[in-house]
Amino acid sequence: SSSSNSNPTFKMESTLKEYFGFSRFRPYQKEIIEKILEGRDSLVVMATGSGKSLCYQVPPLVANKTAIVISPLISLMQDQVMALKQRGIKAEHLSSAQTNSSAFKNAESGQYDIMYMTPEKACNVPTSFWSKLLDTGICLVAVDEAHCISEWGHDFRVEYKQLYKLRDVLQNVPFVGLTATATDKVQKDIINSLRMEDPYIAIGSFDRKNLYYGAKSINRGPLFVDELVAQISNYARNFESTIVYCTTVKDVQEVTKSLCEAEINAGMYHGQMGNKAREESHRSFIRDELQVMVATIAFGMGIDKPDIRHVIHYGCPKSLESYYQESGRCGRDGIASDCWLYFSRGDFGKAEFYCGEASSATQKKAIMESFMAAQRYCMQTTCRRKILLEYFGETFPSNKCGNCDNCTNSKEKSDMSREAFLLMGCIQACGGYWGLNMPIDVLRGSRAKKITEKQFENLPYHGLGKDFSANWWKTLGFQLISSGYLVETVKDTFRTVNFTGYQEVAKPVMQFDAGYLVETVKDTFRTV
Ligand code: ADP
Ligand code: ZN
Repeated sequence: SSSSNSNPTFKMESTLKEYFGFSRFRPYQKEIIEKILEGRDSLVVMATGSGKSLCYQVPPLVANKTAIVISPLISLMQDQVMALKQRGIKAEHLSSAQTNSSAFKNAESGQYDIMYMTPEKACNVPTSFWSKLLDTGICLVAVDEAHCISEWGHDFRVEYKQLYKLRDVLQNVPFVGLTATATDKVQKDIINSLRMEDPYIAIGSFDRKNLYYGAKSINRGPLFVDELVAQISNYARNFESTIVYCTTVKDVQEVTKSLCEAEINAGMYHGQMGNKAREESHRSFIRDELQVMVATIAFGMGIDKPDIRHVIHYGCPKSLESYYQESGRCGRDGIASDCWLYFSRGDFGKAEFYCGEASSATQKKAIMESFMAAQRYCMQTTCRRKILLEYFGETFPSNKCGNCDNCTNSKEKSDMSREAFLLMGCIQACGGYWGLNMPIDVLRGSRAKKITEKQFENLPYHGLGKDFSANWWKTLGFQLISSGYLVETVKDTFRTVNFTGYQEVAKPVMQFDAGYLVETVKDTFRTV
């Protein structure tokens, strides 16, 4: 009837059906679209694969106005434009082509439902363009991958910082920030940076129930690579798509070579390859001509392959945000898939390497802190899903998810309270402004210059920890950090370890992986 036709909900649902072929909205989509149509700024934080794009693709069709979509990657925009065109939606990517091109003229006169552009482009088109387009109507400005705005995010892009300028030109147009990963800090940054006013915030669950999480300490080298190849050849036998993320190009090359020698269909993707070779590799992987993609994190956004079954990380990732996003590329179809992270202790010394990307002291600190969170994830022995979700500010109602290595492995336990007490006491005796190495060397009875200079050889702790290796003590130290008894902080780029606010520690549980016994501290003990 004509009355139901003018009903906005009806119009939204018929648009969903007509253009996208879906019969109902997913959780949050409908609310978000309604708020946007009301003209309200919105922040959408939802997991990969949850259907964020639809939130900005439906409103222009309902309102019959243009949607501006800001996105960081040209290839990503091109894919989306193609998919939209196939659905009969007028979409275009406004590239850096001359401002008098026909696409530009069409855009200006409101011929497109959805117009994609990079942040640089959006900030550089003449104001006259926007004022003409405003006359025919702009229903929203969507900022995709909005975490790129924040120095606290894992993929900061300077151009994104300029986007607030659009606000002045496009008054009364709602801005929509969309991202799959945002901690509290990043969310605030997006809101502030885009000058959002009283935004509607939709936060979906980060829980990817079909993903199994695991992490394991390894020794780098050919022996491990052999193990990795054996694991992956099992996957390949079952025709299961796999991504192996490496931290360096060198690792990518080595792993690919070993896989190919084992006659596994593996290809690579990294920043030192030419554009063409990379595209070729990407395409072969999407078409299942390659079963395994060995890649650096350059293989990132825009991997829209639903049936990736395994994502393996060879090396500790630079942050939990990036780990969540990279591992999240598997199992988009909802079928059980797994994410294994293999780290070596040597990886943890890489903070400096990541700090090379920093452009300010704040950013350096942010990078260090993000990296430390990833390290803790590696070493932690409690439910990994809970760790991940709580990192993103979501509470997980139980201590065990039953679908991660720490929930499914049962490890032997023994009392480690004496050793924990020794380490913590020694840290305190050394003054609390060192990393782990100094107190551990003191415990192990070293008389190196750095120790005698401070007269630490006279401390009562000196030599009391000779029975264990430095690595063993480090593992214990990481466990104590992970469980919150010690805190690691960054000053400039130095890390120091000291006590948290706790004065008393009751029955902490400690477990060692890394091939050590799993241990429990039974006693209540005081740290001061
Ligand atoms: P995101 O941007 O959050 O990673 P996408 O927008 O790419 O997710 O959507 C993921 C998949 O879900 C796409 O294949 C999309 O077509 C599908 N999808 C989105 N919304 C719906 C819906 N309401 N019903 C069914 N499928 C949907
Ligand atoms: Zn778990």
